[in-house]
Amino acid sequence: FDMFVLAFAERLFRPTYRKDDFVLGKKLGEGAFGVVYKVSLAKPSLKKEGELVLKKATEYGAVEIWMNERVRRACANSCADFVYGFLESSSKKGAEYWLIWRFEGEATLADLMLSKEFPYNVETLILGEVQDLPKGLERENKIIQTIMRQLLFALDGLHSTGIVHRDIKPQNVIFSEGARTFKIIDLGAATDLRVGINYIPKEFLLDPRYAAPEQYIMSTQTPSAPSAPVATALSPVLWQLNLPDRFDIYSAGLIFLQMAFPSLRTDSSLIQFNRQLKRCGYDLVAWRKSVEPRANSELRRGFELLDLDGGIGWELLTSMVRYKARQRTSAKAALAHPYFGREGLLALSFMQ
Ligand code: ADP
Ligand code: MG
Repeated sequence: FDMFVLAFAERLFRPTYRKDDFVLGKKLGEGAFGVVYKVSLAKPSLKKEGELVLKKATEYGAVEIWMNERVRRACANSCADFVYGFLESSSKKGAEYWLIWRFEGEATLADLMLSKEFPYNVETLILGEVQDLPKGLERENKIIQTIMRQLLFALDGLHSTGIVHRDIKPQNVIFSEGARTFKIIDLGAATDLRVGINYIPKEFLLDPRYAAPEQYIMSTQTPSAPSAPVATALSPVLWQLNLPDRFDIYSAGLIFLQMAFPSLRTDSSLIQFNRQLKRCGYDLVAWRKSVEPRANSELRRGFELLDLDGGIGWELLTSMVRYKARQRTSAKAALAHPYFGREGLLALSFMQ
């Protein structure tokens, strides 16, 4: 009941928008299920909202609005600040869902990782200034650690809420200039198992570059699409049975890998890595044994980074990228991993 009243009050006092309120700016992205623009507000009286982002989505936009509303109430810090979503039916192309977020910043993790400056460009963003310190492996490791901690923190928020993102990749992790941390975006493929929303996985939405090897994040044995009240009662059990959150953990592990190894940051090299890993039975230790003897200096440097402090980085990575979902660590357990020292634990106790 409380949740209902809260949601209702929030609805009443939050601004609502219509199509004509927005002036379209630069196109930020275009996928199979929608187009994303930077927008500003037409009326000066509305301008205090600042810069916004608009996604014009197809029929899947309805689920994405639902997910964003839920995230805003349950784990607001995990994702980009959602402002408003509505059905826009006057468009020539038929009904579209319009979703509005606050403009979080110019760069996704993908943009930042493409730069030769990575990870120092991220350090500058987080600190707001350039550090006048010698560059080196230890410093790079610290920055990558911070990015991983922020990503896992955001994931833990989603997973604790019962949401599996299913499209975790650098393109869907944005640096929030306001919060000076990374946030997750694009809940277009997300699924909420506790209320049965989007219960039947839209497998075709999954990005094969970052997807875990399991075809279905829920066992095919589980009953199909129960009605909402039944699902609410059942799904914590299903969650325990299937550990669907571990799908995102695998993807986050691949991001960790790409941050440690510059040579795995391109699409083609990641695809090649995926083939190699598959050939090794999804065993990272076996993969390492197969590539390390003939590794170039750049690859060796990546292993060196992960081997710092007795190899705790490598240990964390191998606990995320595993064939069996059951054997992968959870976001919460990863944050308590020694790789993050005491800071991981602090992030948990401080924010929750
Ligand atoms: P899709 O991948 O379905 O096209 P996304 O939600 O991932 O849609 O958005 C596409 C791109 O738009 C992102 O990669 C990012 O560059 C940009 N973007 C999305 N949301 C925001 C936001 N809140 N602030 C700034 N940029 C954003
Ligand atoms: Mg996206």
